[in-house]
Amino acid sequence: MPGSMVGVLGGGQLGAMFTGAARRMGYRVAVWDPDSDAPAHRIADQSFSTSFADHDTRERFVDSVQALTLEWENIPVELCQWLEQRRPLRPSSAVLRILQDRLTQKQFLSSCSIPVPDFAEVQSVHQLHHAIKRLGLPLICKTARSGYDGKGQWLIRQSSEVAQFEQILSRPSSGVRWIAEQVVTFVRELSVLVVRSGNGETRVYPVAENRHEHGILRDSVVPASISPSDAEAACELSVRAVAELHGVGIFCIEIFQAQDGRLLINEIAPRPHNSGHYTLDACTVSQFEQQVRVTCGLPLGEVRLLSPAVMVNLLGDEVTVVLSGEGSRETFSTQGASVHLYGKRVIRPGRKMGHVTFTAPEREIAVASAQQFLSRVQNPPSAVPSPS
Ligand code: AMP
Repeated sequence: MPGSMVGVLGGGQLGAMFTGAARRMGYRVAVWDPDSDAPAHRIADQSFSTSFADHDTRERFVDSVQALTLEWENIPVELCQWLEQRRPLRPSSAVLRILQDRLTQKQFLSSCSIPVPDFAEVQSVHQLHHAIKRLGLPLICKTARSGYDGKGQWLIRQSSEVAQFEQILSRPSSGVRWIAEQVVTFVRELSVLVVRSGNGETRVYPVAENRHEHGILRDSVVPASISPSDAEAACELSVRAVAELHGVGIFCIEIFQAQDGRLLINEIAPRPHNSGHYTLDACTVSQFEQQVRVTCGLPLGEVRLLSPAVMVNLLGDEVTVVLSGEGSRETFSTQGASVHLYGKRVIRPGRKMGHVTFTAPEREIAVASAQQFLSRVQNPPSAVPSPS
């Protein structure tokens, strides 16, 4: 109940937004993230910044909280197993074990007859040749574990590029498991947020339409420009996937809408997602409030979309446009613009530094405002060469 302490593993921007929602609802929050600079530490009631392998910290952490959640799927499963024997953890370690590994995840979904891109396991040159024979080229190879925002991916477009990947596989130190996937020719990428409680009650947010650049989410538009029947099919598929997992928590299901109309699941994240940030400004209850509710066993919230919305990520030094005088004034004075900055101290290329959500009574107006903003952050005035 509000007043008690809830724990979150991971303290990046997702953990910080969870912490903000939990505190607004009257909870106290303990954050455990080995990075002492992680944004959530600044607003936590209690902070732990030792390694996830530290046994002393896990005792102190679990003793201080009544319920637990996470903001990142790569938290060590062993730690989650230990924690969930003492306090409820949403999502469970069993769900994490399946989703942490792209290969295990796709094998699981396939075994439930849930459509995914055709894939194969690749750990050796022999398996690579086998995969190429079965799936053809181009192939997208992803490390089975870790990797995010397009990191840990390798695209083999044509036969002449196979040798380069063979070299990676043959490195003596390699031992890395890869999943090779057929490259899907998609018309659009979609995502669906599903919240599922311990008794199987489910809520589904409207479908978002996502654009990626270099594997990183550029922007999300809600509602997606798809037919009502496609939207229904995407939601049904997402709910089914979470039910098959017996997942309890909030999940983001990333989907390709293929050129032939099929809906294929690319990836499931067992946590709030970047493409769901629009819910903060455009829905009755945000994805983070739902995470608090489902973690603490409260009734799930309404998922009503109050307004069309476009969320634009601020990547790397694009954030400086919002921080500088003129750009900042322009952004803050744009109607329907809501600015979220994550307070990260170090700017790195492609790093998610913040986002801006544009809401408007009409989808087209929100899209136009977002496009205008995007062209400003991608071509800041200082980057324009002077006529001389
Ligand atoms: P992921 O890390 O798997 O979410 O991949 C990041 C982005 O790479 C996706 O959002 C897609 O834009 C692209 N991508 C990943 N897998 C595939 C695939 N099998 N076919 C086509 N594009 C893909």
